[in-house]
Amino acid sequence: MDIDHLVEEIVKELTNKHAMKNSNDKYLVPIGVSGRHCHLTKSDFEKLFGSEASLTKKADLSQPGQFAANETVTIAGPKGSIQNVRILGPLRRKTQVEISLTDARKLGVTPPIRESGELMDSSPVTIIGPKGSIYLKEGLIIAQAHIHMNPEDAVRFNVKDGEFVRVKIINESRPISFEKVKVRVSPNFVLEMHIDTDEANAADVKPGTFGKLFKLGGPI
Ligand SMILES: [Zn+2]
Repeated sequence: MDIDHLVEEIVKELTNKHAMKNSNDKYLVPIGVSGRHCHLTKSDFEKLFGSEASLTKKADLSQPGQFAANETVTIAGPKGSIQNVRILGPLRRKTQVEISLTDARKLGVTPPIRESGELMDSSPVTIIGPKGSIYLKEGLIIAQAHIHMNPEDAVRFNVKDGEFVRVKIINESRPISFEKVKVRVSPNFVLEMHIDTDEANAADVKPGTFGKLFKLGGPI
């Protein structure tokens, strides 16, 4: 790198730092990327892994109590299948698979973009484990981009549970705004925006990337 280029790089970095400092830091939200994953009921887990098996923790996730399991499944649709889909624990009251639009194309299905748990009229999917498989008439969705936050965060951002907000991703390479991000408020949540891998790639989101929250219809 020649000296002019180096100076240019340093100036750019200082400008970025200055911009970050001047941007209203209290409106920044850390971005977390959700890879394709699966939530299972106890009974579906037993059908896939056997009644003796138990779900084991690989790593904690950012939301308290949630974890990535060591166990994975294969999911299949009319056009193809995807292996090594991570199970997220703990076990739930409903089985649900969350994938990206790119994954949906590979499977040959057209799932709706939904909030977690809203499975009515979602897409069918086959889940295959080491001991068996299950076919769900509905349960496959593409997750709606959302922000987890606790009630104090909600006051600070001046937003309510269920409200949609705009989030501008803070980066130089692909400065994209997400225009429909659902706010989810619970005392158990830790502040984090969740997007899928397609959205993350579209916005060149890397670890440590932040977004800035705007209320729809105007600045906060
Ligand atoms: Zn989430």
